[in-house]
Amino acid sequence: MKQTLTALFASLVLAQGCSSPHAFLRELYPQSKEAQRLTVNSDEKQFFRVRHSEKEGISEISHLVATEEFEEAWIYIPKEDEWWEIGQASWKDSVGVYTALNYSLLELLAGVSDEVIHYHIHPEKTLRKLSTPPLLPGTPPPALTLTEWALPSDIDLYSSLVQSCDVASHFPGKKIRFKVASPAGIVEYAPVKSTFEEICSRDFPKRHRAFRDAVNQTVLGLSFNFTDVSRKLVDGREVDTPTVIYQGDYFSYTFTRY
Ligand SMILES: [Zn+2]
Repeated sequence: MKQTLTALFASLVLAQGCSSPHAFLRELYPQSKEAQRLTVNSDEKQFFRVRHSEKEGISEISHLVATEEFEEAWIYIPKEDEWWEIGQASWKDSVGVYTALNYSLLELLAGVSDEVIHYHIHPEKTLRKLSTPPLLPGTPPPALTLTEWALPSDIDLYSSLVQSCDVASHFPGKKIRFKVASPAGIVEYAPVKSTFEEICSRDFPKRHRAFRDAVNQTVLGLSFNFTDVSRKLVDGREVDTPTVIYQGDYFSYTFTRY
């Protein structure tokens, strides 16, 4: 009996300790620093966290999309209304802009939260200067289209599958979602549950190959266009948002205007 009571008290104490997992995280992750607003931070050793609702965060992100040259990424925790910067180094070349993620911080946040949303930005200033690789040698490289600005890249899609698979296997019942912010607005890209779960259960490298195929099929299967980024038109017409703009075998895309 005594043992049972002790165990009960121990579990109560533990439950209390778990009621604010993010306070614990702040201590566990002293590199993170509280800030007043979301920024694009190039210091690789410093990570900021901001207490904002999703709406407040998106409003600041839309400003960063319009003014910044480099990418940034965050984990937003809906239950806590807190944003954690997870982007490490960001760099660009003639065809892309990239961010390395602080993956250990991402896993910590996903592990202590019921649901997290992974946000990243596609900055307009840089997108305007980018081009896709030339189709034929010696021909001018085509500029990136508005649709390419607004949608997740093949790397974004692949990375989302790896992260979703990691969360599903290490933290059953927890959820990670993915959203990209561009001048057009926000696109949420979500792996389709049934096909994703089947592929995720396979061993590497079979899983890796299947993820690559899923990404290729998605990118090739897109059949809509963002035709005017300032008026945020899809296929030349205004759409109510949020709107599902693509539903494939492996991903669905939902578009929301700012
Ligand atoms: Zn991206």
